[in-house]
Amino acid sequence: MSFHPPQRTLMGPGPSDVSPRVLAALGRPTIGHLDPAFIELMDEIKVLLKFAFRTTNELTLPVSAPGSAGMETCVVNLVEPGDSAIVGCNGVFGHRLCEMIRRAGGTAIAVEDAWGEPVDPNKIEDALKRHPEASLVAFVHAETSTGARSDAAVLCALAAEHDCLSIVDTVTSLGGIEVDVDAWGADAVYSGTQKCLSCVPGLSPVTFSERAAERIRSRETPPVSWFLDLNLVLGYWGSGARRAYHHTAPVNSLYALHEALLILKEEGLEAAWQRHAREHRALAAGLEALGLQFVVAPEWRLPQLNAVRVPAGVDEAAVRARLLREHDLEIGAGLGPLAGQVWRIGLMGNTARRRNVLRCVSALCAELPGAGDAAASAVAAASGVARD
Ligand SMILES: *Cc1c(COP(=O)(O)O)cnc(C)c1O
Repeated sequence: MSFHPPQRTLMGPGPSDVSPRVLAALGRPTIGHLDPAFIELMDEIKVLLKFAFRTTNELTLPVSAPGSAGMETCVVNLVEPGDSAIVGCNGVFGHRLCEMIRRAGGTAIAVEDAWGEPVDPNKIEDALKRHPEASLVAFVHAETSTGARSDAAVLCALAAEHDCLSIVDTVTSLGGIEVDVDAWGADAVYSGTQKCLSCVPGLSPVTFSERAAERIRSRETPPVSWFLDLNLVLGYWGSGARRAYHHTAPVNSLYALHEALLILKEEGLEAAWQRHAREHRALAAGLEALGLQFVVAPEWRLPQLNAVRVPAGVDEAAVRARLLREHDLEIGAGLGPLAGQVWRIGLMGNTARRRNVLRCVSALCAELPGAGDAAASAVAAASGVARD
């Protein structure tokens, strides 16, 4: 029997709701990955990615695999055995970066901050002073495991001051909050398609500065991964490349990415960021009226990922299961030290709409034990936040 998925509203940490326009693009006829019409589409995707990342970097393309593969592309191409990298660790994904750096033969110098806090630039600067041998600084701009934003401009500037290249994870930030690759002076930046771009999962946009491209060209040893070796990938994706076969591109997923990027372009980057901020304010008003407390301080909160503490005595998994079963609404659980203690409510991309905010607040009112009295005021609070 064919598979027909249930109709869910995706308010977890990704994937987010994919718009009918993107799904329609995905369903168009498959053509060859070397077809001249497809090559034209690839060029347009690169232009649109530069727009989304706010960069003029020539080396900008979507890796044919999910966000973790974009992370690994940056790591395996920029780390050579014996290299040292300073890594901001304030959640799951900073630790994943460390693990990849070690597997690539490098030394990861983990700089820890508490989960829910941003990466502390003072600690990164101390580590840079203590480790003059370091050649990279890596951090996560938007930590999806906690909902904390870090100051990418400041961290990239610190890296540059100490002659290090920066690796920046913008998987959850791209399209949701300001990402400004050239203004930050970031060197290697990766993202994902299923968070604030609201495309299907399975692709990872990446962009590299000229400094990073030069380091990749002048490596002494080839990267440990054949598939992610950019010097090989560029034979297919590079500008002016022969477009020689490297791997079979995920043709239909790239139609979908093109459409998702067009939608972002039509809305405008600033307008998309403002929509995320506005709908976050509405959601926060509703959640706070229900007595739920945010993990992250207001200044560092990500609008697209709202981590709130589970009230004492509430079975968090049971509430999530009822939201899914009774309301077709997916929210996320906590990870690592926050497992069992928080819910992570996503407002990513196409999901960041008032109807979803109101749905989520009403569903929580229905399913949170003891929410009864606060229910009406919580929905009113979320509804009352100005719509534009
Ligand atoms: C989701 C995510 C990733 C990994 O992306 P996948 O597509 O799941 O591989 C990496 N970093 C951050 C910050 C993420 O939110």
